[in-house]
Amino acid sequence: MNIALIAHDKKKDDLVSFVTAYQDIFSKHNLFATGTTGLRIYEATGLSIERFQSGPLGGDQEIGAMIAKNKMDMVFFFRDPLTAQPHEPDVSALVRLCDVYSIPLATNMGTAEILIKGLERGDLEWRKIVKENGE
Ligand code: PGA
Repeated sequence: MNIALIAHDKKKDDLVSFVTAYQDIFSKHNLFATGTTGLRIYEATGLSIERFQSGPLGGDQEIGAMIAKNKMDMVFFFRDPLTAQPHEPDVSALVRLCDVYSIPLATNMGTAEILIKGLERGDLEWRKIVKENGE
């Protein structure tokens, strides 16, 4: 599965802790991240991650483009709901595209726990069928 990892600045520690805790599961998948988030996760875990631009510089849109091409299977996007973001339109667009394409999206740790356990259990196998039919 292709998995996107994004965290706003005040949520980066949470996402790093989350990926570290579930490193064994994440290591079986292809990981993509916005620039700074990807660097932080790589430094903490050594996991191989394809890094895009930083979020405010277009990274959210790059991940959105993968969703639009049916190339992203799951998104962990730890948003900071208490801080204004300069790239708020990009944030909304990414969430919107997840809804357009029915891509599982976790915007907080609570949902992330459910998604990662579902991934491990094979609940996301339907994504393979969607991709095969779309190609
Ligand atoms: P960053 O981008 O990982 O480069 O900080 C995340 C974001 O703010 O969308």
